[in-house]
Amino acid sequence: MAEKSPQEIREMLPALLEEIHQAESIIVGCHLNPDGDALGSALAFSLMLDQLGKPHEVLCHHAPPRNLQFLPHVDRIKQSTETQSPDLAVILDLEATHRLGSLEDVFLSAKRTIVIDHHQPHQEPGDLRIVSTYSPATAALLCDLFFDSEIEITPEMATCLLTGIITDTGSFKFPNTTSHSMHVSATLLEKGAKLAQVSEEVYMTKSRASVELLGYCLAHMKLDMDEQLAWTTVPNSVFQQTGATDEDTEGIVNEMLAIESVRVAAILREGKPGKIRGSLRSRGAIDVSQVARVFEGGGHKNASGVSFEGDICDAEEKLVAELRKCLA
Ligand code: 5GP
Ligand code: MN
Repeated sequence: MAEKSPQEIREMLPALLEEIHQAESIIVGCHLNPDGDALGSALAFSLMLDQLGKPHEVLCHHAPPRNLQFLPHVDRIKQSTETQSPDLAVILDLEATHRLGSLEDVFLSAKRTIVIDHHQPHQEPGDLRIVSTYSPATAALLCDLFFDSEIEITPEMATCLLTGIITDTGSFKFPNTTSHSMHVSATLLEKGAKLAQVSEEVYMTKSRASVELLGYCLAHMKLDMDEQLAWTTVPNSVFQQTGATDEDTEGIVNEMLAIESVRVAAILREGKPGKIRGSLRSRGAIDVSQVARVFEGGGHKNASGVSFEGDICDAEEKLVAELRKCLA
C-alpha cells in the first residue's frame, strides 16, 4: 500500500531507528536534478543522524542548484564517495534507483536500504519502505516520523523541512496541499523555520540569464489543440548564447500552464548537446505521468519529467504526439 496515514508513518519510526542503530556506515541520498524536497529532506535527515551520533555521508549526483544554496549545511552534499558497501543506505524522495545517477552503484551495494518517499512507486527498492503517496512532500513524511519523538527539530532542520514542503506544494498552491501539510508547516514555523528566507531565496531571486531565457521560451512558445496544449523548446545554442543553465528553466513551464486555455504544458531543453530533458505539467484530471512513462520518465499526475537523447526536433515531435493524445 502506497497510501499511509500520518499515524501509520509515525509507527514506522522505531523500525527506522533500529536500522540506524545497527549500522556503522551510512549514506544518505536523493535524486539527480535535486529539488527543494530532495535536498531539504536529505539535509534534515543528516542533521537527525548527527543527533543520534551517527557518522554518515550525504550524496547527490548533481550539486545543489543556486536557489537552494541557502539551505543550512548545504556543503555536506557531495557528488562522489570513497565508501563501498555501506551498512545502510537511506534514499529520500526517489522512486526509481536509476535517478541516483552515477551514485546508483554505491547505493545498490549497501547491505540494507531504507526508502522514504511520496512518489507513485515505480520500482519498489528497499528493505524498509516508508512511502506514502498521500503526502505532498518527503519532508512532510519526515515531520510525521520525527514530531513528538526523541528527535529534536532544530531551527535548521525546520528550515530544511519547510523548504521541502513549500517547493513540492508550490507554496501551498498545488492540489496536493492538505490541511495536514499546513499543520506540520505551522509547527515547523514554531520550531524556528525561516519562511521569509525560503520564499526569498527559492522564488524571488533569479539570475539575469534566467529571466532572459524566460523571454526566449515565451517568444518561441507553440500552441495546439485549441490552445489547450502549450510547449516550447530550448536548443543547446540558446544556452550557449544566453549563458543560462538548465536549472534556469525551472518554473518556465508553469508560466505556459498559466494561460487560461492551456491544460497541458511542456518545456524541452537541450542542456548539453544531444541530452534533452522535458518537464510536463497539467491541470486537473489530466495525467502527464502516463505520457512520461511512454518515454521511461515518470513523476506525478500533474508534474512529470522525461529524458531524450539525440535531436531536439525529433524529441519534440514524439513528445507532442503523445501530449496531443491526452487532450483528444
Ligand atoms: P521536473 O519537471 O521538475 O524535473 O520534474 C517533475 C516531477 O517529475 C518531479 O517530481 C520529478 O521527481 C519527476 N521526474 C522528473 N524527471 C523524471 C524521470 O526521468 N523519471 C522519473 N521517474 N521521474 C521524474
Ligand atoms: Mn518530493
